[in-house]
Amino acid sequence: MPDARTSIGVVGAGTMGAGIAQVALEAGEHVLIHDPEPGAVERARDRIADGLARRARRRITEAGRVDAPTVAAVLDRLEIAPDLESVARSARVVVEAVIEDLAVKRSVFARLDAAADASAILATNTSALSVAAIASAVSRPERVIGLHFFNPVPLMALVEVVAPPAADPGVVATATGLVTGWGKTAVRTADVPGFIVNRVNRPFTLEALSLLEAGSGSVESIDLAVRSAGFPMGPFELMDLVGIDVNLAAARAIYAGLSYEPRFRPSAIQERLVEAGRFGRKSGEGFYWYGEDGRKIGVAGAFAAPDATGPDGQPGPRPPALSSGVSTAIELRLSDEIVERIVLAIVDEAYRALGDGVADPADIDLALRLGAGHPRGPFEWAIDLGGSRAVLERLERWRSAGPRFDPAPALVEAAASEY
Ligand code: NAD
Repeated sequence: MPDARTSIGVVGAGTMGAGIAQVALEAGEHVLIHDPEPGAVERARDRIADGLARRARRRITEAGRVDAPTVAAVLDRLEIAPDLESVARSARVVVEAVIEDLAVKRSVFARLDAAADASAILATNTSALSVAAIASAVSRPERVIGLHFFNPVPLMALVEVVAPPAADPGVVATATGLVTGWGKTAVRTADVPGFIVNRVNRPFTLEALSLLEAGSGSVESIDLAVRSAGFPMGPFELMDLVGIDVNLAAARAIYAGLSYEPRFRPSAIQERLVEAGRFGRKSGEGFYWYGEDGRKIGVAGAFAAPDATGPDGQPGPRPPALSSGVSTAIELRLSDEIVERIVLAIVDEAYRALGDGVADPADIDLALRLGAGHPRGPFEWAIDLGGSRAVLERLERWRSAGPRFDPAPALVEAAASEY
């Protein structure tokens, strides 16, 4: 057991807790982990062992040799703590990754705060709750920040460092240095609903759903157009992968958190799919159909052409026209418009986030590239499109398509200064 307060504490040993523990262990940390659910830490330990072994194998393949410590030696630095207090007493930084429930997180933080040394940093991995609301449960809110890791933690480079107004700048700097030392790229964000990525990227799915609802594109044509523009996945493929229920929950949280702004209104299409239990890949059907092995079969019945063949080969839905590639001038124009609308709505939201003081443009660009896999950040798109004046002019053309095209005040200001 190392000296007190040299460890990293992880509370909650689910998907994220296990991933965070793995990354800290790989960086050479001693990690204390706790989860009250019987068997949870043991399952996390197995997942971490698998993850370490996979990465070690990849290193061997890439380098032709192993010069890293063995999996067993790394796992030796993982200690299972019997309770929250033992984690708090020994850790210089505790990362909380328990279920997304404000009351549970507040109670966890109150206990951690009571047991931790005054110098310890307490971080939450919440995706949608207010960090300040969690911090208000402790006696020293200045030591509470958000460290928002992305799933899967070992593969995703981005960490949003969430700084509520009461956070001590020294705490923010230390935590930023810590995750940077673990090989992550940290961006600084204000404590606002969705932070950077989940807010600025919201139009990626909402605008695609709006295009689908208006009949301006099909599930496949929209996905194809977006992929052709350099995105790793189309919006419907992404929703199916993440889970339509999970995506809808995030959309609802941001809609409520941002005072029910109409541009964030969740889509009725998603509401209907979730009601029907069509969650995407995990339930076998969402926007697409999936086989037993999880492979995509085709566009799901509700979204396919009427003369198509279903997954059983019987007459029924089949992928519509654009499945084999964008081939005609009209389709090309359509795909340009699809991408233009989605990208413009994201750029506009980025200007709103900038105007609201969420983050600076460089961090917003970095966050969207690393956290959402975008080929360019929104401000880089704006430059490609010809600058803020050109973006404003394009938005004007789409204004009647909905509130996502109302220009952000910060964009109007930036455009005015270009004259
Ligand atoms: P999960 O359900 O996989 O794991 C949560 C774990 O917390 C469970 O093992 C549960 O037993 C444990 N737990 C519950 N109450 C506890 C308590 N009082 N003390 C200690 N442990 C407790 O959830 P997850 O996906 O790992 O998410 C954890 C947090 O990370 C949530 O706040 C979530 O919003 C956030 N997050 C999740 C993702 C993601 O993609 N899964 C991404 C970013 C952030």
